[in-house]
Amino acid sequence: MIEKKEVKMSDEEWAKKLNKEQYQVLRKKSTERPFSGKYWNKKKKGVYRCAGCGQPLFDSDTKFESGTGWPSFYAPIDEDNVAKESDRSFGMKRTEVLCSKCGGHLGHIFKDGPKPTGDRYCINSISLDFKEKK
Ligand code: FE
Repeated sequence: MIEKKEVKMSDEEWAKKLNKEQYQVLRKKSTERPFSGKYWNKKKKGVYRCAGCGQPLFDSDTKFESGTGWPSFYAPIDEDNVAKESDRSFGMKRTEVLCSKCGGHLGHIFKDGPKPTGDRYCINSISLDFKEKK
């Protein structure tokens, strides 16, 4: 269940605001190819925001090397900033993770992450917008 969805835009408005690749992932739940995104290997300190609405989602302090080719985090910056939904597409039972503010698709959560949470947030680079900590 998405509890707060503060940014409400029509599909047409999103298609105008986002570039084609962002739109396909954020609004149509597509997945970027592994090792193709701009953040899977990024190690700088900073905050990853939603590329759709700008809400802060992940801090670089929780980013870890997952070997998957997607940026991976063991926790969101705030539990309220992400929403989780059951996803049974492609014959798999997964948990989808979305931005709680605009409902944009970010990726999926798996339970094979590192300590302290054991969660692995497997996120599309294209759903994120990195701002370096100065
Ligand atoms: Fe968002």
